[in-house]
Amino acid sequence: MAELLYQREHLPEHDELRDIDSHVASLGKEFGEIDVVRRPLKERRDEIESIVHQQRDRRDELAKRLAVATGGGKELEAMAGEIAHLDASIDTLETEELEIMLQLEPLDESVQRIKRDAAAASQRRESLGAEITDAQTRCTTDIAALQATRGEIVSYIPDSVVRLYQQILAKVHDVAAVELVDGVCGGCRIAGVAMDIGRWRSSNLDSLVTCPECTRIWIPAS
Ligand SMILES: [Zn+2]
Repeated sequence: MAELLYQREHLPEHDELRDIDSHVASLGKEFGEIDVVRRPLKERRDEIESIVHQQRDRRDELAKRLAVATGGGKELEAMAGEIAHLDASIDTLETEELEIMLQLEPLDESVQRIKRDAAAASQRRESLGAEITDAQTRCTTDIAALQATRGEIVSYIPDSVVRLYQQILAKVHDVAAVELVDGVCGGCRIAGVAMDIGRWRSSNLDSLVTCPECTRIWIPAS
């Protein structure tokens, strides 16, 4: 029963849950490190796109005006000069944008991977939650059944023994009373010395012998 109580709070699913949480935390950390590099690159790319957009509009407008212009040579020359200047600027900006895109590509891939991993982890976390609830319900049912049986048995056991059992249980967490098999303690698996084994042979509920190593009660032989 103590084993069941312990098991209910220490399921293997609990370990997996902790692993998932630490995995998610490391994903968050990794994302943060990538974001420090990626965010300014994206901001610069957006800025370039907006400048190029404005410069293209201005260039197209100038080209239209130049096509139908009837003014003097100086004015036409100025417009042609500005168009050439805009073309060069757009070219430079687009080269810079291309370089940024190349830097962003592996970073974007990493971010996609992190998001996929995080989504999978959160899905697993959800189903684990359900598995834990199921397993705990099963343990609780078993515990209730055992408690009912134990209630009958305990009524034959002296109060002092029940108290001793519970004191030991509070320390060892699993089982407080074990068998002594071939002189070996069923709790800590350490062989008892001849004198203690001799005491155990003649022990009973009124004179219990406990393991000198792990303090568990050695269930009387008779
Ligand atoms: Zn022991």
